[in-house]
Amino acid sequence: MKKALVFVESKGGKLKKSSQEILSLFSEGEFEIHACALGPEANQLVDELKSWGAAQVHMNTDEKLAHYNPELYRQFFVQVFEAVQPQLVLASSNMLGRDLFPRIAAKFDCAYMSDITEISLHPELTVRRPMFAAKCSAQVSFTDESCKVLLVRPNQVPVAEANKSGSAVASEVAISGTPGKAELQSVEQGESEKLDLTEASVIVSGGRGLKEADNFKLLNDLAEPLNATVGASRAVVDLGWVPHSMQVGQTGKTVAPNLYIACGISGAIQHLAGMSGSKVIVAINKDDKAPIFQKATYGIVGDLFEVLPVLTEKIKAVRS
Ligand code: FAD
Repeated sequence: MKKALVFVESKGGKLKKSSQEILSLFSEGEFEIHACALGPEANQLVDELKSWGAAQVHMNTDEKLAHYNPELYRQFFVQVFEAVQPQLVLASSNMLGRDLFPRIAAKFDCAYMSDITEISLHPELTVRRPMFAAKCSAQVSFTDESCKVLLVRPNQVPVAEANKSGSAVASEVAISGTPGKAELQSVEQGESEKLDLTEASVIVSGGRGLKEADNFKLLNDLAEPLNATVGASRAVVDLGWVPHSMQVGQTGKTVAPNLYIACGISGAIQHLAGMSGSKVIVAINKDDKAPIFQKATYGIVGDLFEVLPVLTEKIKAVRS
């Protein structure tokens, strides 16, 4: 049987939705699933991973691995890879995945692909990914038998039912624990991020049309009843209104929520590159020629300072 290494991430002792999405790809099970979980929460995931059909759970529960450290994580994955000899490695296409897994692919001479938006494991492995800032997308199949290291964008794969009964044999993987050149000092949660942008199912995003930093309050007010995360264009990040962790786009985060509300954002190609995978896009812009309207599912041509308070009140009324 072929073997797949799956890197799973958790929050509060539960698998993140993005990890459930990846595990859902194995519904038709031709692969033996080797889940990899890191940090003190890893122990709490074993039962859940059993229901996703994991045959083994490779973990290291050291506190030092609670947060990403490239060298320690690499040590862990190199050891697990050598022990398992997988045909496939799967992880989420997020900042961590894009930093860590090229190292693993290079070490073992594997094919590597990130930002995958569609993937099929049966009857043959094929993937689709955007190219050239999402101006086009490529359908890719593989011509050799070497291991593939593939990163799948969050919110692209529907979550299946976790109704399997894998053996989920858990084993602690010892690593030297020497961090080498870099050591993590602290992690600070971005103020405005309820849920990380890449995981959020609703995003309210603001651009230069907001005129000044304080007006992000209008977006926070709308985000509240929608339980949304607030994002931003690069223009306002460059202006210092909000931190870079909120930036959506080519040089920011790639998001694919169910609903993306773009407020006062023109829709430059570099912004679209990060959010055009959203299921429904609502654009609010006073310029009816703004390029964002070409991507929008629904467009509101109007002054956001008039539209947003009304929209917020209406949504609050529906939600209450
Ligand atoms: P603007 O383009 O200034 O648009 C503001 C919009 O607000 C306009 O459409 C205007 O009509 C509207 N508006 C104004 N007032 C109101 C009002 N009262 N009510 C309603 N609408 C109003 N950009 C990103 O976002 N993310 C990236 O990752 C990114 N990466 C980049 C990488 C490179 C290499 C380069 C060169 C650029 C990158 N950019 C990125 C920048 C990008 O090209 C645009 O400059 C930026 O997205 C513009 O931001 P904006 O839409 O907020 O501002």
